[in-house]
Amino acid sequence: MPLLDNHMHLDPKGKFLEAVKEFMSAGGTHIALVSKPAAVGDYEKQFSEHLKIVKSVEELGVKVLPVFAVHPAEISILTKEYGVERAEEMMKKGLELAGKLVEEGKGVAIKSGRPHYEVSQRIWEASLRIMEHALKIAKDVGCAIQLHTESATEETFKELEEMRKRVGLKEWKIIKHFSPPISNSKDFIARSILASKRNIEKVIQLQRFLIETDYIDDPKRPGAVLGPKSVPRFTQELLKRGYEDLVYVIHKEFPENVYGVDMKDD
Ligand SMILES: [Zn+2]
Repeated sequence: MPLLDNHMHLDPKGKFLEAVKEFMSAGGTHIALVSKPAAVGDYEKQFSEHLKIVKSVEELGVKVLPVFAVHPAEISILTKEYGVERAEEMMKKGLELAGKLVEEGKGVAIKSGRPHYEVSQRIWEASLRIMEHALKIAKDVGCAIQLHTESATEETFKELEEMRKRVGLKEWKIIKHFSPPISNSKDFIARSILASKRNIEKVIQLQRFLIETDYIDDPKRPGAVLGPKSVPRFTQELLKRGYEDLVYVIHKEFPENVYGVDMKDD
């Protein structure tokens, strides 16, 4: 049975491979590994570093679903240095490179979004254009896209669903990272929900979702987020309560549908 953490970062300066070993020892088999903005604005460097990390993680025997991210918060840093227009251009280029890498089979998804904090009107509008650009790339490549946004409400999902239709992205290709456990009876936006204990009662009401830790592997902030064993533990709890069918959906059927991959665990 595959067991996927749908959003994890790893850092060679953090726990790194030890974190992967912890994940595996708890029963984890697959990681959607999201690149970190280690070199702000330099996406060639970010993604080539990421591919190296992916390789060393795979050598441990875990299956990696590489995700190439252009983090929405980079716009604030890049704008200070280059101005908002140039920042927008750089991030769009970064997303194009991310899409190209997926097209070449080096990853399964790209990641974009918009700032989750207060920004100026100009930065907000540029961010919306960057996100729309990212959605179009995902559509052209035919891949999934994880989105990092402000905390989502019913209203956010409605808006994302409208964007999905406008751009022409297939159902379930947009993944809301760090999603609240809100039902998706009215849209086709995949929820990636945090594997925290308080979410158990809520997720058992859902038909499908993905599950993540958003483990950041930051040596300066150990324990800032959920640890690498959290998704396996969350899954064990679901099994203990008798939700075998739901576990099959969230770790096998739904990830296969979203990412277009074969979730084999051998
Ligand atoms: Zn993240």
